[in-house]
Amino acid sequence: MSLEWDALIVGSGLSGATIARVLAERYGFRVLVVERRGVVGGNVYDEYDESGVFVQRYGPHAFHTDNLQACDFITRFSVWTPWELTSFADLGGGVRCPVPFGLSTIDHVYSSMAARNLRERLRSEFGATPAVPVRLLLSSADPWVTAFGRTLVELDYRPYTSKQWNMSPESLDVSVFDRVQVSLDGELRYFRDAWQLMPVTGFGSVVTEMLRHPLISVRTSTDARSVIRVSDTAVLHANGDSSELGLPVVYTGPIDELLDYRFGRLPWRSLTFEYQTRDRANGEPAPVVAYPLAEGFTRITDFGQFPYQHRTTERTTVAVEYPHSVDESTNLEPYYPVPSEESRAQYERYAAAVRRVNGLFLAGRLADYRYYNMDQAVQHALEVAEKIGSMYVR
Ligand SMILES: Cc1cc2nc3c(=O)[nH]c(=O)nc-3n(C[C@H](O)[C@H](O)[C@H](O)COP(=O)(O)OP(=O)(O)OC[C@H]3O[C@@H](n4cnc5c(N)ncnc54)[C@H](O)[C@@H]3O)c2cc1C
Repeated sequence: MSLEWDALIVGSGLSGATIARVLAERYGFRVLVVERRGVVGGNVYDEYDESGVFVQRYGPHAFHTDNLQACDFITRFSVWTPWELTSFADLGGGVRCPVPFGLSTIDHVYSSMAARNLRERLRSEFGATPAVPVRLLLSSADPWVTAFGRTLVELDYRPYTSKQWNMSPESLDVSVFDRVQVSLDGELRYFRDAWQLMPVTGFGSVVTEMLRHPLISVRTSTDARSVIRVSDTAVLHANGDSSELGLPVVYTGPIDELLDYRFGRLPWRSLTFEYQTRDRANGEPAPVVAYPLAEGFTRITDFGQFPYQHRTTERTTVAVEYPHSVDESTNLEPYYPVPSEESRAQYERYAAAVRRVNGLFLAGRLADYRYYNMDQAVQHALEVAEKIGSMYVR
């Protein structure tokens, strides 16, 4: 293998594809990408379903970033159209508010006099700050502000978190809870980033285009474990060969699986989707709607409202999203790492073991055991590629 290729990439998601492209294009490496699924794209895989609706099979994805380098790189591989995601939360009793929650939520939940009073108190406490984490509302000295924070927690964050993470908001790592911001400047978009774009050909085709290069070969339906193995003495081998592999390997799969779960299974949350075909008129009130109080499911994505649909179709496809734990018996796809001190410590043992393996590099959400937005995955992958390119001069 080492004579034929200059680098092996495990996984054809955004991380693996970015690294493959940079190594081939900038450094002239001959790159082999192995992907265990039958298709490339990883978590951003999308396709037309039987109703002619373009669906994202691993959950709703919208590209948003403030990172010019990642944006410049990814936008080379399709034509992109500006699109800002809007999202609602259904709070029961016919109340539907835009999310992130904020000033507009106050009008849905309070009488007009109380709403005016609360707005003034928020303004006097937070001034012109555009958005604050709900934690700051809860710790306010003003009882009106605290009560507003508690209302949001009880109506949405607590029931949503307990379904999504199977935990109370209090026991969740603060980094996750702080991702949920309360908007104080009337912003109605789901994201605030400078660039919010969608590829008109879908994200899957972006990855296909990244991998379209004369120096890149892709083998789908190929599990890395049939190609490489890490020995107990931290040496990287081609499978069935006792000598050291001798070329850089980038692994973007689950880190615990690569090392045969020697420090135990890292905890993950997974999702399953129930698809429904509806008349377009009976779609959801926004492209993504959260249902914190519903039994079992967390949100519904209405793909008919995503930008690259054939507008002529009368039908839409919605995906109802159910969260689950991942264990040996369920064997579900890992979606979200469970952020906690214990899981970070467990991950660090894996990362330390990998650091001892000459030529093995980790990248991506599964190997780094970290939630990355697409721009973060691309940025990190660009850095890993540069590191390898400068270490292994051809
Ligand atoms: C529900 C959900 C919604 C999201 N929405 C957004 C969004 O709106 N905006 C945004 O910016 N980001 C979003 N993201 C994040 C986005 O999905 C990730 O940033 C991105 O997919 C990371 O790509 P990756 O290559 O690191 O991982 P992946 O896409 O998971 O790719 C890893 C690949 O490795 C393969 N693999 C694993 N093990 C092996 C093995 N042993 N052998 C061979 N191949 C293997 C897998 O099959 C997979 O194809 C969302 C994530 C989730 C879970």
